[in-house]
Amino acid sequence: MSKEKQFVTEITPQQEDFSRWYIDVIKKAELMDYSPVRGCIVFRPDGYEIWEHIREELDRRFKETGHRNAYFPLFIPESFFQKEKEHVEGFNPELPWVTEAGGEVLEEKLAIRPTSETMIGHMYSKWIQSYRDLPVLINQWANVVRWEKRTLPFLRTSEFLWQEGHTAHETEEEARQETMLMLKTYREFVEDYLAIPVIEGQKTPSEKFAGAVDTFSIEAMMKDGRAVQAGTSHYLGTNFAVAFDIKFLGRENEQEFVHTTSWGVSTRLIGSLIMVHGDDRGLALPPKVAPTQVIMIPIGPAKLRDQVVGRANELFGELKQAGVRVRMDDRSDISPGWKFNEYEMRGVPVRLEIGPRDMENGVCILVSRITGEKRVVEQANLVEEVRKMLADVHQEMYDRAKQFRDEHFYTVDSIDEMKAEMEEKRGFTLAGWCGSEACEKHVKDETGATSRNIPFDPQEKKTTCLVCGEAAKHTVVFARAY
Ligand code: AMP
Repeated sequence: MSKEKQFVTEITPQQEDFSRWYIDVIKKAELMDYSPVRGCIVFRPDGYEIWEHIREELDRRFKETGHRNAYFPLFIPESFFQKEKEHVEGFNPELPWVTEAGGEVLEEKLAIRPTSETMIGHMYSKWIQSYRDLPVLINQWANVVRWEKRTLPFLRTSEFLWQEGHTAHETEEEARQETMLMLKTYREFVEDYLAIPVIEGQKTPSEKFAGAVDTFSIEAMMKDGRAVQAGTSHYLGTNFAVAFDIKFLGRENEQEFVHTTSWGVSTRLIGSLIMVHGDDRGLALPPKVAPTQVIMIPIGPAKLRDQVVGRANELFGELKQAGVRVRMDDRSDISPGWKFNEYEMRGVPVRLEIGPRDMENGVCILVSRITGEKRVVEQANLVEEVRKMLADVHQEMYDRAKQFRDEHFYTVDSIDEMKAEMEEKRGFTLAGWCGSEACEKHVKDETGATSRNIPFDPQEKKTTCLVCGEAAKHTVVFARAY
């Protein structure tokens, strides 16, 4: 077996075992490692840098829409959780507690935050007095802990990194506008930056956030047909305002409760982009978040090496100067073929090859990770050509993901039809739903699929419930989910 072939076989093919493929890839590409603590992973530099790029861009978009960052404590007093009934019921099973510190038993035990509505609600009640103090538009970048029973690196971990936006408004209308604005911000970001098409919609009551009036989500399809909830935005009504007494003197000189929202995305996005774009050769990273966008590999016989590497270094400097995240692998003891495989496995979007003949001709070769397309480009236009190829790679990734999703999206009229389709194909099912929890649960018990959301823009409107056959209140996307 050739070295190159052997290299690829270390990754389980997706068709054989998708979960195994996922773990093989993230470990081999050194994105993460398991830690000694159950459900908690270590983000290695390449994994963490993907998060840094996600964070930089989202942060920019949040600030553009008027939000500012702040930081609230990691520990939340137990009594805070008792104030909002649904919130405590939803989160209690997942809370880790600090009961002792400094050798003493604490008077009141402290939860390690699973989300910060309670702490932030407490603070907002102090900061907000009048309608003039509104709106409050704050975001926090933090780690949170939810003691999950089932974990999977990036997608569902016990400790994860995220941002949580928390806003307070004078009216319901304003708060609802904010909820929608942030959902749209997530959708645009995930499409523009991660090249993932998503379905925007509203969660059914059984799937909404504990303590929310309405929850909205963006849902993405992985390459095994399963869904991932990639982000959520909640309209919390006055639930937390009542619980934490966040009142203000209104324009009519009356005390009113604020309307609040919260919204979050997490390091789950890293898992999603891997499962949407990766293939049997390994990772395929969307150019805008790839730690290395271009890998340069000088080629040629030993006697011409110094010359080629010298010219490659000049080009490297130009790309770096232009803000491209470029790396060079000029190790002479490793074959170009091995390097090609290595950086494909690591998902680097563009490979730049340069050899002695290219040097003479003033050209070099760009190769796309996604299509394998090779472009011979003029060195004089290198920055422009690289930018163009990075943009093309992004578009190609988006188009492929969208095509895959369209091919695995089907509509059904009955649960039997759904079962048959699910047996045969993987993917999302669109169906009518009467609105009863019993019918929703029946779907889950029979097929393992849960309601993902009620899409704003369904491909088709369904008129009858897939379970009971009564008139449909909503058209719902069902899928097995991570
Ligand atoms: P929530 O506060 O429950 O609405 O969660 C906000 C976002 O965090 C969700 O949309 C998920 O994308 C993500 N998330 C929730 N739980 C986890 C977890 N255990 N690990 C990673 N990400 C998570």
